[in-house]
Amino acid sequence: MNIEASLISRTDSCQTVKGVSKLYWDDNVADKTLNTPDLLYNFSGIYKKSRCAMAIVDRPEPEKTITLGISACLAGEKVRYNGDHKRSGFVVNSLTRFFHLKSVCPEVAIGLGIPREPIRLVGDADKYRVVGTDHPENDFTEPLAEYGQQVARSLERSISGYILMQKSPSCGMERVKIYHPNGNPAGASGPGMFARSLMETSPLLPVEEEGRLHDPVLRDNFFVRVFAWHRWQQEMRDNPTHAGLVAFHASHKYLIMAHSPQNYRKLGQMVSIGKKIPVNELAAEYIALFMETLCFKANRKSHTNVLLHLLGYMKKTLSEESKKTLLDIIEQYRIGTIPLVVPITMLRHFLNIHGSDYVKEQVYLQPHPEELGLRNTL
Ligand code: SF4
Repeated sequence: MNIEASLISRTDSCQTVKGVSKLYWDDNVADKTLNTPDLLYNFSGIYKKSRCAMAIVDRPEPEKTITLGISACLAGEKVRYNGDHKRSGFVVNSLTRFFHLKSVCPEVAIGLGIPREPIRLVGDADKYRVVGTDHPENDFTEPLAEYGQQVARSLERSISGYILMQKSPSCGMERVKIYHPNGNPAGASGPGMFARSLMETSPLLPVEEEGRLHDPVLRDNFFVRVFAWHRWQQEMRDNPTHAGLVAFHASHKYLIMAHSPQNYRKLGQMVSIGKKIPVNELAAEYIALFMETLCFKANRKSHTNVLLHLLGYMKKTLSEESKKTLLDIIEQYRIGTIPLVVPITMLRHFLNIHGSDYVKEQVYLQPHPEELGLRNTL
């Protein structure tokens, strides 16, 4: 296992750190710490002089089990019409630590070269086509739509989400400008042709645009869906059983509640009458509503409601003092003073000691790996 070190603070003393294979360093702080007494560190070839304290933390590399489809230009590939790319720092620097990426450029895949004539959507919101900007007689509607179907079908089993490039007439998920044939904006918009076909063919696949992933709520929501869809792919899709469905629903109960109390009731009813319906039919209905439910964004109010429900599981076992502390932390979260990660971490700690297996196994407590830090800004 790799041991990695993180710089946490400046002090006048230093600790010797052994066995460190990688050093995370805040350059801004490091630059300011080149004072006396200077100490020389050597961690696998990294030399730094500083006066600071470090904490050693176990940070095994996250295991990559999930593959995401992605617009190739976002991954830094020079596939755009002008031979450029749209490299996303978030995708390349952060996501590649956690996910395998399967990059796809539909325009290149249907045979358009690099560089190429730009294309755009022409028509109105109900019916539009993808044509060349300079040569509108070049129509790429069918090839892009067919390629969207092909990608959706061929990657159906291997990917658990898709990140698309915004505003593209091929890859844009929504709100791509539509033009009149004379080149004037039609005042309407829609998804790019490849993206539309991909989403229609795989309606349950979590899809998001890279630009929207900069919003903490949308980012959390997308990855909640990605991990939930991946669990379904692993546990249920190929061999659904009534018992499996009951177990899947039970472990996701509070996650569902955070996203929609109404659908929480509907999904519960669906599972409870389950045996009267053939299991394949029931599983298809369940997962459609389940994934639709996760598209609703959880908010401070709904999270607070869930946190209080979870606290309720310890009302007989927790000391009055601990209960008061937790209630205070939940209230601070509710009014926006602290992020969601704080009450969740505290609750997980106490539930590990006092909670039943049922509550400890709630996906809500950790719907995606903690290292992603998605709840730090919620
Ligand atoms: S937006 Fe899509 S079609 Fe355009 S360059 Fe990027 S991957 Fe290719």
